[in-house]
Amino acid sequence: MIFQHPIKPFRLLYPSALWRMDRADGSVYLTFDDGPIPQSTPFLLETLRQFDAKATFFVVGDNVRKYPELFEAILREGHAVGNHTFHHLRAKNCSVAHYLDDIGKAQDLIENASEFFEKESGEMKKEKNFFPSRKNFLEKEKIFLEKEDENTGENYEDEKKENEKNPSLDLSDNEALPLFRPPHGTIPLRHYRAVAERYRIVQWDIVTRDYNRHVSAEHIVHTIQAYARPGSIINMHDSLRSIDKLHTALPAALEWLIQQGYTLQTL
Ligand SMILES: [Zn+2]
Repeated sequence: MIFQHPIKPFRLLYPSALWRMDRADGSVYLTFDDGPIPQSTPFLLETLRQFDAKATFFVVGDNVRKYPELFEAILREGHAVGNHTFHHLRAKNCSVAHYLDDIGKAQDLIENASEFFEKESGEMKKEKNFFPSRKNFLEKEKIFLEKEDENTGENYEDEKKENEKNPSLDLSDNEALPLFRPPHGTIPLRHYRAVAERYRIVQWDIVTRDYNRHVSAEHIVHTIQAYARPGSIINMHDSLRSIDKLHTALPAALEWLIQQGYTLQTL
């Protein structure tokens, strides 16, 4: 069975992750994972600009390295960016230390490119503090890594009990942290806890499955029409597997969302 909204037990596993924004503000939040790439990002940016819509791009560090001009174009258009690891890693396949290291590598690149852009253009919106320095987290990270072992732990029940016994993770003030979305959606809780201390983990309210070859452009638009609600964070992709569909689905979805009175904002 396919769920467009995340099911409750899944949400409860990741209590401090962001699933849906303020339902009172009349906005929805498009998010595009996996870019930037030349075959997709320029079309997404052009279409968003036509509709005066802002979005959030969860970029893969290696793609930022390969296509810095596309990353800069995202910033120049006033969109937000978040971290999606350097190598699009699946968390359960690697140790917490390795996972954090890969995310940190992507974050360094994102922050350096953003700081460079900021200096060059003077356009960056400082007040939102998209890219707070990682330095604050380095000390914590060091302590954590010293304790880290190679167990990649996938037993959610044990993890959950451990979480309950150890509720020391106070993330009530995590809005200033850099944004992070785990590739492939799921993340073992040990990885989750380590990452959540350093990043604001963003999940979604609606998945369009635009990457799936059985999902058509019409289906993507239909999913958004059927499930969008105030505050929805909508998951789409900036990738080869989705772009052919987004050529028609993105303008159609934007047109419909705007007709419904939604504004399209960055996270
Ligand atoms: Zn991804």
